[in-house]
Amino acid sequence: MSPYAADQRIEVVVGDLTTLRTEALVNAANESLLGGSGVDGAIHRAAGPRLLAHNRTLGGCSTGSAKLTPAFDLEAQGVKALIHTVGPIWGDDPLADGTEPLGYRLEDNQLGRCYASVLELAAAHGLVSVAFPAISTGVYGFPKDRAATIAIGHVRAFLLRSALPERVVFCCFTEEDAAIYRARLKPRDILRQIGHPDSE
Ligand code: ADP
Repeated sequence: MSPYAADQRIEVVVGDLTTLRTEALVNAANESLLGGSGVDGAIHRAAGPRLLAHNRTLGGCSTGSAKLTPAFDLEAQGVKALIHTVGPIWGDDPLADGTEPLGYRLEDNQLGRCYASVLELAAAHGLVSVAFPAISTGVYGFPKDRAATIAIGHVRAFLLRSALPERVVFCCFTEEDAAIYRARLKPRDILRQIGHPDSE
């Protein structure tokens, strides 16, 4: 399959992740899985207190890994599962001096593992659509451009070898953030302009 074909299954939207109706919503959680600020807080508020009670039984989650839970109150809007993943905190690599090219920092690899771990879980549970926030780019301070390159690279590579999920949504909080993702994707209208067969 051409990499362009994978991009046809990726969508960029602007808004609040918790309002989406994809089968899975991804939470940018912390290692405790007991809630926090940003997306994490919004997901816990929208899913209701049963999520916290459930997550207390999970024993946390290590950075780069993912755990799936029911969507609780979010089921009412069609969400079947939440997939919690823990992104890296930018600056946590004690060996980094700031000059590492993309892919050479510990945090780059941990962030890539987040996307891969989530997609593996989604596919294993037969989930058709998954929406991601921009993991680690809020309070965890990961540079947004670098994070988007990693996110798209990992999602694209996964979609090329897996029929599930059929659709991946990058949910950005601002238009500015969405532009970072759109600039890296090859949407159908661009393929049409260049006459690429995957545009059909
Ligand atoms: P992290 O701790 O992994 O950095 P944050 O929740 O602080 O996670 O931020 C991750 C990204 O999600 C940021 O780009 C932030 O602007 C965005 N964000 C925060 N709340 C929401 C929301 N409700 N829906 C979508 N994106 C959100």
